[in-house]
Amino acid sequence: MSGIAENLEEIRKRVIAACTRAGRSLSEVELIAVSKTFPAEALRETVELGQRVFGESRLQEAESKMDLLPDSLHWHFIGGVQRNKVRRILSRFEVVHAIDSLRLASYADGVAAELGLFPKVFIQVNVGAEASKGGFEPDQIREEIDALLALERLEIQGLMCIPPAAPDAESARPWFVALRTLRDDLEQSAGVPLPALSMGMSGDFEVAIEEGATHVRVGSSIFGKRTYRVDGELG
Ligand SMILES: *Cc1c(COP(=O)(O)O)cnc(C)c1O
Repeated sequence: MSGIAENLEEIRKRVIAACTRAGRSLSEVELIAVSKTFPAEALRETVELGQRVFGESRLQEAESKMDLLPDSLHWHFIGGVQRNKVRRILSRFEVVHAIDSLRLASYADGVAAELGLFPKVFIQVNVGAEASKGGFEPDQIREEIDALLALERLEIQGLMCIPPAAPDAESARPWFVALRTLRDDLEQSAGVPLPALSMGMSGDFEVAIEEGATHVRVGSSIFGKRTYRVDGELG
């Protein structure tokens, strides 16, 4: 097996173990293989092992890989969304993880109507209130959730976060708890289910699963170290 195949098997085992510890079913957790910066051949190795869900954060790069890979794959756009790319993103991706303002959401809703789509989206929350990161601050999402839910086309799955950089996985736990608690509050106040939580990356996905993640976004632990940065990526 190549390094990638071994890595994927290892990550799957760790996902299963985290579900077992948390008393959760494996079917509640989607492993998104974050393949940004890696070539189509690298993705293909994981497709051969049954991986179907991929996360990308740069549109053009993703589109060229999509053209080389089977149509049966599921693509999640996990990067920051620029307005002028909304149309292409909604056309090619099944799920968008980082809707970071009401303004962007309204715009995307209009584009979705023109395209005849009902896209699945996550609302990004800036849990650490960091100036360098996008997303709704917790107080802001509390105020704007009703307006977001009133949009006719966007199917809001739940919340997504990229917590502040932490020295170890355990330090990320309070941020994951905060996102889950915020989700619970919003469900209560808005009276609608927001079942999904997109949280956890290579360094902390097990802790995220323990705290309720339904989508974990794992890149470098599967594909290896990235050798160049992607727009909008964290340092
Ligand atoms: C790159 C990226 C990931 C994956 O990060 P790794 O540490 O490589 O697992 C997850 N989420 C987002 C939003 C990313 O940009």
